[in-house]
Amino acid sequence: MRSFAFTPAESVGQAVSAQGGDGDAAYIAGGTTLIDLVKLDVMRPARMVGVNRLPLNDVERLDDGRLRVGALVTNTELAHHPLVTAHFPLLSQAILAGASTQLRNMATTGGNIMQRTRCPYFRDAAAACNKREPGSGCDALDGINRMHAILGTSEHCIAAHPSDMCVALAALGATLTLVGPHGAREIAFGDFHRLPEDRPDREHEIEPGELITHVTLDSPVEGAGAHYLKLRDRASYEFALASAGAMIAVEKGVIREARLALGGVGTRPWHAQEAEQALRGQPPETVNFEKAAGIALRDASARQHNAFKIPLARQAIVRALEKATQAATDS
Ligand SMILES: Cc1cc2nc3c(=O)[nH]c(=O)nc-3n(C[C@H](O)[C@H](O)[C@H](O)COP(=O)(O)OP(=O)(O)OC[C@H]3O[C@@H](n4cnc5c(N)ncnc54)[C@H](O)[C@@H]3O)c2cc1C
Ligand code: SF4
Repeated sequence: MRSFAFTPAESVGQAVSAQGGDGDAAYIAGGTTLIDLVKLDVMRPARMVGVNRLPLNDVERLDDGRLRVGALVTNTELAHHPLVTAHFPLLSQAILAGASTQLRNMATTGGNIMQRTRCPYFRDAAAACNKREPGSGCDALDGINRMHAILGTSEHCIAAHPSDMCVALAALGATLTLVGPHGAREIAFGDFHRLPEDRPDREHEIEPGELITHVTLDSPVEGAGAHYLKLRDRASYEFALASAGAMIAVEKGVIREARLALGGVGTRPWHAQEAEQALRGQPPETVNFEKAAGIALRDASARQHNAFKIPLARQAIVRALEKATQAATDS
């Protein structure tokens, strides 16, 4: 493992100035992704800026009903927070479907959003990988690509985005607050993760040196039922092969509001907006959920080992929408 300098920061300003934005430094929060990748020689920061002492640990309800979450709130704290279980159950379910208790105790909200892909070729410094080494090729295209994405892929990268929490954020809608060398700004969560296209190494709309300080969830949909369904090789401590986060609100027998996002199948947290639109105004019936699944997966494209993800994701969508409907109250 390469050596690095460590600077614990006491304030956001100090963290941003210590990071410097020069490409040689990285923020470190729980360290559950970053330290792994440093040990594997995939990430090589010469300096790490510790952010755990920053005052970004609060979860608060704003006057307009939105929920403001500090970037250092751990996955465990967020999943069990009373405001989250009461008003954003999809977020709680998605977080608890991820990793293990020990990891969730360390993992932070900001770190989860910034976590890197689990593509084994990305994590193997001897393999060709355009994300790790731009222009080097992609060993996954004709390799063991069973875990890889079927939506949003390019000829340069087919890596799936691994986060469960981000699937819920995509469905719920949220805004990120970033602070960097040039001040603070906000960006919609849906615009933050990039498609790989011809630059898979550029994963986020984040400028050098910027720190995520908060995630603000949109106001909850009143009366909605929610369900996060994660399908994977074993029941815990495993990444999704396909997952679906669904929210349904029903009024007088028809769907007033629908939200749907997918995990394990997209190169970024996959917000199925066209499928949501097709569901609004329809009766909450399986036939309509199947149509929505068809729309969500219309552009899916598989490689040699991951074609099974298309029917798997279809089933996940239909089942998650059915379960969300059962949890909804018809107003
Ligand atoms: C064995 C294992 C299994 C896992 N299973 C799952 C799973 O099933 N589902 C799932 O969703 N996740 C899973 N994870 C991933 C886990 O959720 C992430 O590792 C964790 O959320 C990262 O948070 P962290 O605070 O530890 O980030 P760190 O490791 O500290 O940082 C990760 C990255 O984010 C950057 N960063 C951290 N905080 C900020 C910030 N505030 N602003 C800007 N950049 C920042 C760092 O520089 C680094 O690049 C698993 C991880 C492991 C090791
Ligand atoms: S799929 Fe993406 S991350 Fe995996 S080897 Fe190819 S370029 Fe790298």
